[in-house]
Amino acid sequence: MARKLFVAGNWKMNTSLAAAKALASEVASLVGAQDAVDVALCPPFVYLPAVKEAIGGGKIALGAQNMFYENDGAFTGEISGAMLKDIGCRYVILGHSERRHVIGESDEIINRKMLKAISDGLLPIFCVGELLAEREADQTMEVVRRQVQVGLEGVSATDMLKVTVAYEPVWAIGTGKTATPEQAQEVHAMIRGLLVNMYDKTVAEAVRIQYGGSVKASNAADLLGRPDIDGALVGGASLKAADFAGIVNAGK
Ligand code: PEP
Repeated sequence: MARKLFVAGNWKMNTSLAAAKALASEVASLVGAQDAVDVALCPPFVYLPAVKEAIGGGKIALGAQNMFYENDGAFTGEISGAMLKDIGCRYVILGHSERRHVIGESDEIINRKMLKAISDGLLPIFCVGELLAEREADQTMEVVRRQVQVGLEGVSATDMLKVTVAYEPVWAIGTGKTATPEQAQEVHAMIRGLLVNMYDKTVAEAVRIQYGGSVKASNAADLLGRPDIDGALVGGASLKAADFAGIVNAGK
């Protein structure tokens, strides 16, 4: 069965309450009724309820940008998966490069979050990707392989079907430098091959692998046209409704 494309907007630490509501309403009016591409919006935690209200009962799903791996208790400043579920989140981004490289999350921490997100009933968007120095040292495949293997440790085949992988080369995030469709496809194919080894062919062929890193309406069709690129995780261009909708429409 063909994989349905999935485009998610990662708003990062941007917008205000008013801007979040306006952006979500505009995205909903542009792509909230179509069903050809799955769409999710991932605003900052504090705007999740407002964005949920703004997208209404349409087809756009709500996602969070992070969560903690414990249920509740003395974890000041953290947000649990149960809380996200409680307010209507369907997805949660895990292992984003900014969490890995700015905040310092390890593969092991991301794996704990992965297992907890799944047990909380959330669908993880699991980010992996190499640094520029790693690409230049020809370590891309090795780095991404390790991130995938450790991040998914203990995830069963059934649960793997709930996970979206997002390949995001760190050097392409927010830099305006996009991986060429060939560069992205090469890593996506490696990840899918790895999933065949870790699970089986059926699971590997069902899992969606998004590309992320300076995706724009102008380069989306070329990227999304590659056989193993099943959508996009979009940062900067998700902050303008028309740009984001252009990416979604490129996948139709
Ligand atoms: C991201 O935040 O996941 C991302 C890919 O950002 P940008 O599209 O701005 O490169």
